[in-house]
Amino acid sequence: MNPTLTRLLAELEHDMSTEAAHGFARLVAAYFADTRVGDGRVSTALAPTELATRFDEPLPRAGQPMADVLARLERDVVAESNRLMHPRSMGHQVSAPLGAAVWAEALTGALNQSGAVWEMSPVGTIVETQVVRWMCALAGFGPGAGGTFTSGGTEANFAGLLAARQAAMPDAWTQGVGATPPVVVCGEHAHYGVARAVGELGLGTDHIVTVPSREFRMDVAALEQTLDRLRADARAVMAVVATAGTTATGSFDDLEAIGQLCDARGLWLHVDGAHGASALFSPLHRTRLAGLHRARSMAWDPHKMMLIPLTASVVLVRDEADLEAAFSQRAPYLFHAGDGERNWDQGVRSFSCSRRIDAFKVWVALQRHGAEGFGILYDHLCATARTLFDLLGTRPDFVAPHEPQSNILCFRYVGGRAVNEAALDALNLELRTSYNRGGDGWITTTVLGGRRVLRVTLMNPRTTAADLARVVDGLARLGAELAAR
Ligand SMILES: *Cc1c(COP(=O)(O)O)cnc(C)c1O
Repeated sequence: MNPTLTRLLAELEHDMSTEAAHGFARLVAAYFADTRVGDGRVSTALAPTELATRFDEPLPRAGQPMADVLARLERDVVAESNRLMHPRSMGHQVSAPLGAAVWAEALTGALNQSGAVWEMSPVGTIVETQVVRWMCALAGFGPGAGGTFTSGGTEANFAGLLAARQAAMPDAWTQGVGATPPVVVCGEHAHYGVARAVGELGLGTDHIVTVPSREFRMDVAALEQTLDRLRADARAVMAVVATAGTTATGSFDDLEAIGQLCDARGLWLHVDGAHGASALFSPLHRTRLAGLHRARSMAWDPHKMMLIPLTASVVLVRDEADLEAAFSQRAPYLFHAGDGERNWDQGVRSFSCSRRIDAFKVWVALQRHGAEGFGILYDHLCATARTLFDLLGTRPDFVAPHEPQSNILCFRYVGGRAVNEAALDALNLELRTSYNRGGDGWITTTVLGGRRVLRVTLMNPRTTAADLARVVDGLARLGAELAAR
């Protein structure tokens, strides 16, 4: 045999050993240990070009020992990545992932089951179906409900709206949407992915009607007026999109009131619960989702408030047939009829063909912590945001434009308030950049009501009141320095 092939085959065997696994496990566990205590920087100090230089090298011609690859991973990847396990990492809606789900990733990769068809994933499709059923039940959907895992909330929103399009325009799949498609109504704080989906669906983003907010939630009276006006103008509505946990402020639309309006008019309600649907686990917070059972479709990202590593997301529909109708293509070589009562092939209700079974890590995490555990974690993260809000309330140099409804909070550095609002906009933007560059904490920023604000999302259960105080003190010190220049 070719000696290179002989060596390569030996490497393949070595890499499946417990010894090889330990190399990776040690690297991951060391990262956890170094990071979770809050020593060291939250994010890299290097600029993109400096990082690019580290990786700018010829395509490796020959392989190298695993130990060398691990050393390189430790030095160039782990050391310079965003440390979401760090207790002062408070940036975007990406979690400090649960250990159990992290380790389950290796098993998912090892098994490499493909989710589209039952014959390629005899247990995976079943586990996915079961996790989807649990989530449908939490949402208050009945026995005919179903869904599928997706690549993220973006795809889940797209799939929900595709199902709505199929119901509103059954011929659109074959004939297109024509010149006068129906409109999609959504709140002004809807995720940008909703508008993107409307574009992708061929409806044209000019056919989006936005409803203003009141206290960062969809103004239900304005929604009613909008629907009345559309009816008077004889413009059909394909769907109303409400948000449970908006990206900017983590606010929840009033699903009960919106759902009643939609029911009375026979309109499809899609709920974007990518961020906030995990509140369903919390006895304290699930009332924020009252009325969710009125939705025809919804998006929910376990990779957000369930702290599952990226990616894990689902689209759920109250009637599973709606999702199957949405993807009405035929592929006889792949999809066979089910075993009588049900087609277990997830591909018939999914945008994707080949895809991993993200449901495994969600299932593992649910086995490990139980629904109760997820409710407690959700409450804890929301309580941390509340602690920050209370802390800011004691300080003259910050204002918070909203109370936290979940684990997201926006606030603004105002210093001594001598500066005008436009100057504060610029100052807050610069403050965020400079603060993050310092490395002691990591936050984000957005624009709210036309004003630049700082924003944090608490996605790490290790963040303490002391960490919050340290971040606020750090921002205040730097803000005063920047204002004094
Ligand atoms: C995060 C988020 C999305 C997008 O989901 P991805 O998983 O990032 O694709 C959509 N809507 C809301 C409200 C979100 O918070």
